[in-house]
Amino acid sequence: MAKNLVDFHCHLDLYPDFESLISECEQKGIHTLTVTTTPKAWPRNREVAGSTKHVRVALGLHPQLVSERVKELDLWREYLSEARYVGEVGLDAGPRFYKSFDLQKQVFEDILKQCAASGEKILTIHSVRAVPMVLSMIETYLNQSSCKTVLHWFTGSPKEARRAIDLGCYFSVNAEMIKNERHHILLKELPIERILTETDGPFIQCNGHPARPDDVMITVEKLASIRGLDTTNFSNQIINNLKELEA
Ligand code: MN
Repeated sequence: MAKNLVDFHCHLDLYPDFESLISECEQKGIHTLTVTTTPKAWPRNREVAGSTKHVRVALGLHPQLVSERVKELDLWREYLSEARYVGEVGLDAGPRFYKSFDLQKQVFEDILKQCAASGEKILTIHSVRAVPMVLSMIETYLNQSSCKTVLHWFTGSPKEARRAIDLGCYFSVNAEMIKNERHHILLKELPIERILTETDGPFIQCNGHPARPDDVMITVEKLASIRGLDTTNFSNQIINNLKELEA
């Protein structure tokens, strides 16, 4: 079963055992996307995970770090040609980060334009309290391109979800989203072919420890049960969704 797991958004380089965790994902065959929060982390991540079969690395500039890291956008641009996956990127209009929201929009616009120009990128996108703006920007800057988008930890309304579906977005679902029953209607209604799973570890706890990629099994089981599906079939569906996304 573990072979069929997908953790499409986690931060492996933020764990003390980063390198052994990569080997663990590789041994267990967990299809993992490890995201970076700053482009400075890219070379090291690429070095450690670049030759693995199951671990992919994304080139990011996290919206929560934009105010102090905006100068690293040049570095991000430099590395883009080496990256197939982009993230963590996006917008955060929560109270702690609202001050930098205008700057975040400038950075995200630049990132989307560069992805569109390069083509074939797969983006994992943060959209806290900013779903309509994130969707409008995807529509404006990415829609005519060959890039694909995954909305990570989506907490928008069902109406916003429909708009995202029409734009071709995928959704990576994590344990916190499932914990909140308010989201269950959405989790039941998302088109099954657009669903991926994620841990967002180490930012999400699982049984008292920071979630690790194999903890994504719990999310697969719970989501299958919410949707009234057999866990093995659902797990295979998620693998197929990943193949489709990466095709
Ligand atoms: Mn994250």
